[in-house]
Amino acid sequence: MPSVFPPALERLIKDLERLPGVGEKTATRYALQILRWPEAKAQEFADSISELHRKIGLCSSCFTFSEEDPCPICADPRREQGVICVVEEPGDMLAIERSGAFRGRYHVLQGVIAPMDGIGPEQLKIGELIERSRSEEVREVIIATSSTASGEATAAYLSSILEKAGVNVTRIACGIPMGMDIKYADTMTLKRALAARGQLA
Ligand SMILES: [Zn+2]
Repeated sequence: MPSVFPPALERLIKDLERLPGVGEKTATRYALQILRWPEAKAQEFADSISELHRKIGLCSSCFTFSEEDPCPICADPRREQGVICVVEEPGDMLAIERSGAFRGRYHVLQGVIAPMDGIGPEQLKIGELIERSRSEEVREVIIATSSTASGEATAAYLSSILEKAGVNVTRIACGIPMGMDIKYADTMTLKRALAARGQLA
């Protein structure tokens, strides 16, 4: 069936459909809205997207997304040394930062162990975490992966290898419901979860 829209609009709709939670209807609504904007506003939007990869890289210490290396948190001398909170993705780190409950530094795994999707420990920033815990005199590693099956499996794996390396490992516990993604937890839940963290069994 031939499309009712001009090809350029059709292409934008297809692009928007690639975003999580956006179906054809929503993508069409967004694309038509962007077309209604003045050209300068649409250009600004396009520039924001094209600048992402040019400006943002990974912090070489904690592996979060950052425009600077090291990132502002790793570079901040007021952050507590010797305590590292391990998260899956930068979004999780932002959620914990918003809670204000943690004053140490982070380590972003950039994913979780998921054998079904072909993601093993070597695809994640796990070797780098072991290296950091050796070289930075780390007293405690707090594992704040999500309480999903993959998040729990990753926590168990990290705990076993870090303990072998002589590091004190804790896991955030109460407050995060099973199956919930860390980045969607509210501030209070994250605060309690961090305060009530415990040793992995
Ligand atoms: Zn960093």
